[in-house]
Amino acid sequence: MTDRAATARAEMVVDLDAIAHNVAILRERVAPAALMAVVKADAYGHGMVEVAATARAAGAEWLGVATPEEAVSLRAAGDTGRLLSWLTAPGDSYAAVLAADVDVAAYTIPEVDAIAAEAAAQGRTARVHLKIDTGLSRGGATALQWPELCAHSRAVEETGAIRVVGVWSHLVASDEPEHPANTTQAERFDHALKVAEAAGLELEVRHIANSAAAVMNPGLRHDLVRCGIAVYGLDPAPGVTPDIGLVPAMTVQGRLSLVKEIEAGAGVSYGHAWVAPAATTVGLVPVGYADGIPRAASPGAEAWVAGRRRPVRGKVCMDQLVIDLQGDRPDPGATYVLFGSGADGEPTAQDWAEAVGTINYEIVTGVGGRLTRRYVGKGRP
Ligand SMILES: *Cc1c(COP(=O)(O)O)cnc(C)c1O
Repeated sequence: MTDRAATARAEMVVDLDAIAHNVAILRERVAPAALMAVVKADAYGHGMVEVAATARAAGAEWLGVATPEEAVSLRAAGDTGRLLSWLTAPGDSYAAVLAADVDVAAYTIPEVDAIAAEAAAQGRTARVHLKIDTGLSRGGATALQWPELCAHSRAVEETGAIRVVGVWSHLVASDEPEHPANTTQAERFDHALKVAEAAGLELEVRHIANSAAAVMNPGLRHDLVRCGIAVYGLDPAPGVTPDIGLVPAMTVQGRLSLVKEIEAGAGVSYGHAWVAPAATTVGLVPVGYADGIPRAASPGAEAWVAGRRRPVRGKVCMDQLVIDLQGDRPDPGATYVLFGSGADGEPTAQDWAEAVGTINYEIVTGVGGRLTRRYVGKGRP
C-alpha cells in the first residue's frame, strides 16, 4: 500500500496489484500445472468479481467457487473462462450453472443422474468432475463407491448428457507436509485415477492440491492446483511455507473516532477487563464484532496508528474497540490500520489470527459487516 490515508470510518482496501502479483508467482511455481484461483466466499472477503477479473488477467486458467450461486454471479459479471462449482445439496437445481457453462462436481450416482437429466433437458453436455474422498471424510465417493461411480458415469457419458472431464479430491493436512495423511491421500488418489481411466473416462484434469500443497508438494500438483489463501497473499501454513514473496492484499483501516486521556486506574470497555496501570491516551476505533472483528482478539491484537503498533485494550464491543495510544495524541480522524500487508510494520491478518487463536482464513473471510470496500491498483502483474 502506498497511499495509506483512510478514506472512511472503516474500510477494507483490496490491492489488486497484490492479487495479480500473487497469481503470477503461483503460476510460475506450479507450472506446468494450471492454476485455479479459488474465489468462493466473496473471494475470502476480498470481493469476488474484482478478484476474479484480476486473477484471469494475471493468467489464472481456472476459477473455483463453492456454490452454484457464486458461479452464476461470475458469469453474470462477464467471466467466460473455465469455472468449477463444487457444492450442492440434494434437490438443488443444476439449471442455471449448466446453462452458464459451469463445470460441476459430482460425489454420488444420484448427483450424476441429476446433472445428466438437466443437461439432457437443455440439450447440452455437462462437464463433470468426479470427487473421490481420499481421507477427509467430507465430500466425495468412498473407495468402495468409486468403481461404481466411475462405471455409471461412463455409461451416462454414452447418452451425450455428461462428460467426465476431471477427477479431484481434497487434502486433510496440506499445511503439515510431514503429516502421514499426505502420503496416504496421494496413494489413494493415484489409485482412484487408475480406476477412473480403466473405466474408460478420458480426463482433462486431475486435481487435489490447495495452496499449501501447490506451494510445497510438487508431487500433488497433477494438472491443476486450486489456490485460495495464497492468491490473497496469506501464508497457507505459517511457519512452514517457504517465503515465495506473496503479498497480503487486504488492509482493514479507517479513521479514529476519538482520542482522549484516561487516568491511572481507569478501566477500559465492558467488564473493565483492562485497567490502565498509569495515565495514558486511548483511541476509539469505530469497528467491532458486528463487523467481523473477533471479540476474542483482545487481549493480544494490535492496531497501527501514527507509525506504531498499539495494543487493543479491554473487550472488543459490537461497534467499537479501544486502543492504547501510550501517551501519543494523533488527531481524531487519524488513520488506524487493524491489519494490512505488514510492509510498514502494521499487523497482518496472520497476527490477528494468532491473537485470536484461529487461522488467517477466518480473519479475512470474517471481516465485513458495515465496512466499505475500496480497490486500489490496476490488477496487472
Ligand atoms: C477452499 C478450497 C480450496 C482452496 O484452499 P486454500 O487452502 O485456500 O488454497 C481448494 N479446494 C477446495 C475443495 C476448497 O473448498
